Amino acid sequence: MKGVVSMGKERDWEEQIGELFTYIEESPTSFHAVANLEKMLNEAGFTRLEERERWELQKNGKYYVNRSDSSIIAFVLPAKEAKGFHMVAAHSDSPCFKLKEIPEITVDTAYLKWNVEKYGGMILSTWLDRPLSVAGRVVSKGKAGMESHLVNLDEDIAIIPNVAIHMNRDMNKGVEYNPQIDMQPLVGMASAGGSYLERLAKEAGIAQEEILGTDLFLYNRDKCHFIGLDKSFVAGPRLDDLECAYAGMKALVQEEADDYINVCAVFDNEEVGSGTKQGAASTFLSDVLIRIGRKLGMDEEGYRCALAGSFLISADNAHALHPNHPEKADTENRPILNGGIVIKYHGSQRYATDAYSAAMMKDICNRAEVPFQVYANRSDIVGGSTLGNISTAQVSVNTVDIGLAQLAMHSAYETAGAKDICYLLQAFRTFYRQ
Ligand code: ZN
Repeated sequence: MKGVVSMGKERDWEEQIGELFTYIEESPTSFHAVANLEKMLNEAGFTRLEERERWELQKNGKYYVNRSDSSIIAFVLPAKEAKGFHMVAAHSDSPCFKLKEIPEITVDTAYLKWNVEKYGGMILSTWLDRPLSVAGRVVSKGKAGMESHLVNLDEDIAIIPNVAIHMNRDMNKGVEYNPQIDMQPLVGMASAGGSYLERLAKEAGIAQEEILGTDLFLYNRDKCHFIGLDKSFVAGPRLDDLECAYAGMKALVQEEADDYINVCAVFDNEEVGSGTKQGAASTFLSDVLIRIGRKLGMDEEGYRCALAGSFLISADNAHALHPNHPEKADTENRPILNGGIVIKYHGSQRYATDAYSAAMMKDICNRAEVPFQVYANRSDIVGGSTLGNISTAQVSVNTVDIGLAQLAMHSAYETAGAKDICYLLQAFRTFYRQ
């Protein structure tokens, strides 16, 4: 990698990207993505707060709050009176398949497969013919109430096999996949029925009959890799949006707060519309900010003033110029891999960026000495949406939508630029240091 990422500031960038690879590989679901961020925060001396308890906050203190095991907000308080909040938001979930409550199906009394449904809008074909496993959480009744246990069977357990080309000669002309028919994973011979519960219980450290609830998802077992003659790309599962979630939290733990309260929020359920109690459309962020404000002695007006002086960077990956399909990109506003941080614009405001917030972001990039580029959809393509304008419905602050350029968004295995990861870390650190 040396020579490819030539920024050479403070840290060995190859090591930084290696840490991101480990984070992604150890985060097969949003529950794991958040648990691993908590680990990072604990190691950096952050204190965990519970939403159901009263908070005691100290100046210069570092804290985090988790909601429903899959969303997290961490913050760093300054020593002096805060002018407002400097926030980064990203999401912890990625498109995948969720196991139904009763998942087992036998075929001809011979095979065992699982009944799964879509979570989010994935490229279905990319899930075929590759080793898959299952992870998530199980809930049991403990002494003090319901207890949640992270589980990951971490073995090659499932595969969704294609139909042979001999049985569908038109396959290479394009196939329409039916999720209920084509996307059900084969997990063993029929005699393996029921054994997954036994294994989940063992993984959770409880008895099988103690399992009262599950949130279980299939995940791609592939590792992350550097790609290219010059190793200038990275490829891996869940780059959208674990690249941004990791970079946001990593920058937060590396910087002290000065004039502003530094906040990093990672929300679950972006891929299914954010409308859950822990999603970006929930009150999670406003609940946390109001409590911080109150504890720091802000009255109602003081809190409103602080919000008016705040800034949110909504970070979610962006579409890069595709080497085989340049015509899919806008004619001018077309970011490339390794071209720097992408500032995203949308005429109908599905991205929250405006002239003011774009100017703020460009200034951050300039001070961080990292390049930036811009994205807009082709005018005849609807495009996606993201966290920015959803979270501003609850917490209305100046917001910019940014991301890292990537290819094959929502594939089971995505591709992005290696340099861009380093640029993003550098920009976030500069933002928090401000
Ligand atoms: Zn995303």
